[in-house]
Amino acid sequence: VRCAALFWGACKYWSALIRWTNFEKGFPNHPSSWRRLPLVHHAGFSAPTPIQAQSWPIALQGRDIVAIAKTGSGKTLGYLIPGFMHLKRRHNNPQLGPTVLVLSPTRELATQIQEEAVKFGKSSKLSCTCLYGGAPKVHQLRDLDRGTDIVVATPGRLNDIIEMKRVSLHQVSYLVLDEADRMLDMGFEPQIRKIVKEVPTRRQTLMYTATWPKEVRKIAADLLVNPVQVNIGNVD
Ligand code: ADP
Ligand code: MG
Repeated sequence: VRCAALFWGACKYWSALIRWTNFEKGFPNHPSSWRRLPLVHHAGFSAPTPIQAQSWPIALQGRDIVAIAKTGSGKTLGYLIPGFMHLKRRHNNPQLGPTVLVLSPTRELATQIQEEAVKFGKSSKLSCTCLYGGAPKVHQLRDLDRGTDIVVATPGRLNDIIEMKRVSLHQVSYLVLDEADRMLDMGFEPQIRKIVKEVPTRRQTLMYTATWPKEVRKIAADLLVNPVQVNIGNVD
């Protein structure tokens, strides 16, 4: 009986593994893989947005991306879902620091990203901490101390917390610069560069921007390695 149970268990494991591999291979261009992604399907979305459909296969291959797309194009899930899969493969200990780091220009945007990460990451039991200025640090530090898989942060506050030595970024291997052009407009470039120095160079970096001026190109050239460029809509 024990032998049969073991055999049955192994069969189930294999079929799950094969299903998962096929899923990742065909993902997301095969329409049925979108339907099989229950977390997204349950949100009532019938299909990926163009930025999602283009970002996912590239991000899942582990390549760097620079994506130029307007607000409202669905960028957040464009980088969060491959980020979740990246996390699942890493098996890092959240107590030792985050694996996924998202930098965002404002508190409002950071909070929205965190809400989306909590909503879609809940079923995978992923933890997410949001760090932003203009609020006391105590709660944010307490959340960090509990251990976290994902950190969503504005560059100023994260840099403060790094200087206090209250967070370690040595496990970060999936780095997202969201609304990079806005972060540069707000003068966050020195903080961004300091933060990135704390992140290992062996990482995947994804940069999202609405415009493509010289300064953004420069920081992309410095921080990304051989990125795939994705353009959605008209860009000057
Ligand atoms: P961006 O960061 O590009 O401005 P968001 O990621 O904030 O865009 O997404 C804009 C809105 O579109 C959000 O309310 C989000 O829930 C919704 N959304 C995201 N993906 C899809 C999808 N595949 N289908 C329909 N709506 C989506
Ligand atoms: Mg956004």
